[in-house]
Amino acid sequence: MTDTDPRVQLAHANRILVHQGVLDAFGHVSVRTAEGADRFLLARNMAPASVTPADVQEYDLDGQTGDPAPSYLERFIHAEIYRARPDVQAIVHSHSASVIPFGLSSTPLRALFHMAGFLVDGVGRFEIRDVAGDATDLLVRDARLGQALAASLGEAPFALMRGHGSVAVGPSLPLVVYRAVYAEQNAALQLRSLALGPVEALTAGEGRAAAATNAGQVERAWNVWRQQALRPEAVPTA
Ligand code: MN
Repeated sequence: MTDTDPRVQLAHANRILVHQGVLDAFGHVSVRTAEGADRFLLARNMAPASVTPADVQEYDLDGQTGDPAPSYLERFIHAEIYRARPDVQAIVHSHSASVIPFGLSSTPLRALFHMAGFLVDGVGRFEIRDVAGDATDLLVRDARLGQALAASLGEAPFALMRGHGSVAVGPSLPLVVYRAVYAEQNAALQLRSLALGPVEALTAGEGRAAAATNAGQVERAWNVWRQQALRPEAVPTA
């Protein structure tokens, strides 16, 4: 397999997101098998830091795979967003810590710096209690919950999941990794900035212009992050 093989790229995305602090023992990243395809690739149920190309499974949009290895319980996040959003080619679901407060608070997550300009057109908010009551384990563990999450995401590139985490979506694997990394950084910056008082966020025009510029540079981030994440000392031995 070469570096252009989708299973290799997905394994690299897992390693990058761990190294960048977006995923840890939990969370996952997926990619469609091809532009517009109704199937997607996702690792088997395991820690993202250890994913290799051989651990990648192929799923349909009902969240089913022929691979007997255990699946992530929350594969319906991916299946139902791909069903609802033909424009989406890749998805990251994470529990990264700085984003969590914005799922709990009425203070909106806003684009505070140019690297997160993609947030300027709004962020979805998923409240699992609206569809499943107040005693769930918060996990998106079936198609109905996945559909409700996809509806909360709407046309946005990012959605908060109250008391749980977030999803980032995008038109390519490198761009969705970029978005997941900078959404987390933006949230951390906003938490720090709010301590100083009211903040000045990007305008819609600034955010869109910055997002367009950065989308053209995304391979640079992917390549350097991959290089860092795949260094021998960065790779778990498990
Ligand atoms: Mn989760």
